[in-house]
Amino acid sequence: MFPQLSDKLQEIFKDLRGHGVISEANVDAALRQVRLALLEADVDFQVARRFIGRVKEKALGETVLRSITPGQQIVKIFHDELTALLGGDSAPLHLQDQGRILIVGLNGSCKTTSSAKLARFLQKQGHLPALVPCDLQRPAAIEQLVTLGKQIDVPIYAPDPNEKNVQRAAAAALAKSSGPRSGDALADVIPAPGPAAARPSIYIFDTAGRQEINERLIQELKELKEFLQPQETLLVVDAATGQQAVSVATHFNHALAISGIILTKLDGDARGGAALSMREVTHRPIKFAGTGEKLDQFEVFIPERLAGRILGMGDVIGLVEKAAEAVEVEDAARLERKLRTASFDFNDFLAQFKMMKRMGPLENILGMLPGMSNMQGLSIDEKQLKRTEAIVLSMTNEERTRPDILNARRRQRIARGSGCTVTEVNDLLRRFDQMRKMMKSAGKMKKMLKGLQQLHR
Ligand code: GDP
Repeated sequence: MFPQLSDKLQEIFKDLRGHGVISEANVDAALRQVRLALLEADVDFQVARRFIGRVKEKALGETVLRSITPGQQIVKIFHDELTALLGGDSAPLHLQDQGRILIVGLNGSCKTTSSAKLARFLQKQGHLPALVPCDLQRPAAIEQLVTLGKQIDVPIYAPDPNEKNVQRAAAAALAKSSGPRSGDALADVIPAPGPAAARPSIYIFDTAGRQEINERLIQELKELKEFLQPQETLLVVDAATGQQAVSVATHFNHALAISGIILTKLDGDARGGAALSMREVTHRPIKFAGTGEKLDQFEVFIPERLAGRILGMGDVIGLVEKAAEAVEVEDAARLERKLRTASFDFNDFLAQFKMMKRMGPLENILGMLPGMSNMQGLSIDEKQLKRTEAIVLSMTNEERTRPDILNARRRQRIARGSGCTVTEVNDLLRRFDQMRKMMKSAGKMKKMLKGLQQLHR
């Protein structure tokens, strides 16, 4: 995340760590570089100045400079201050039964996608969310939410196409879901499939946006908020827009008293400025982060973890959580055993492939490992992964269990079946063999990952 900033900071600190003895002048020089890196990352000027002031005050303490590991201690101070700058503790949602969340933001901020992502997130926590599209200006926005809702089995309370009043549409959604048919203002409920629709426990209202903030938008949102009395009003902003995102948040907060922020596109070109300045400028917490286009690329914003990722300390907790979500414990233990004893075959490979898919894009996962976030050449081509999967799927069960029977004729057949060349099939088999050999001797995680990477290349 924020690769440029992250690279620079890691370089500066590597340098500082390298000194056995650290003087005030060393600290000063390093912090000057840090300040420049923050400004280049589009962090608000005042925020950067105050932040450096705080770090400096702590770092220049006698006990730090005279300790045996001053460099390490300064990195720790930096990590703690960065965590505080990002908001300190994570900020949970305040919800109650039949809770209401109002989602607001400008067009293009990823508002609609984030509404669906939030529904998915709440659903995974055992809630019964429902989505209510309240953008009556753009029918396409309603269709988009309906499509997303279907993907995640969340009911959508779509307004009547002729309805022009947002409050009436919202009221109809609430009335319809709470039992007696109100009959007005709702086109229909698009129910989640499965057992008879239960009453939603949380309503997420996706509102209309504009290209820019204007009075009409704010007025409409104020009235809707007044009517709904939501427990949470979350503003969605695009991290890639840097300081503009911070300014949008300041405006929305003044007008609507938002309760938190969903910061999106943290995966893209975002330089870090929005994430690092947001809390200190707006005094509002970032509650969630969008990290990609897919609906499960959405996470609770945890300042300490992000600080760790930026400083290359990895996010082992995040990795373990992701793995726990995706992997059945027994499956993992079985695979681990097989890897160790090198009895890992192509059926296990397919199982592993499924697990990896559930865990999300590999690059995100590798970025969570300490020291791996900025490792060059570790990017994995997802298209190539699909080709590899196609090759394995073209094998018979026996071939998958006993790859040694794969003679030239069989390899040709597999190549034809998977739409790849025989060379590609040979290549995969060779790498698979190498990996099995390596697995036998290596228990270390990094080696295993390197092995997997080679295998999937
Ligand atoms: P809206 O106009 O605010 O409702 O924006 P949309 O929800 O339609 O999102 C705009 C685009 O951004 C869509 O193509 C989404 O797939 C994409 N998108 C949403 N969230 C993220 C994210 O976290 N990262 C990236 N890279 N793209 C995202």
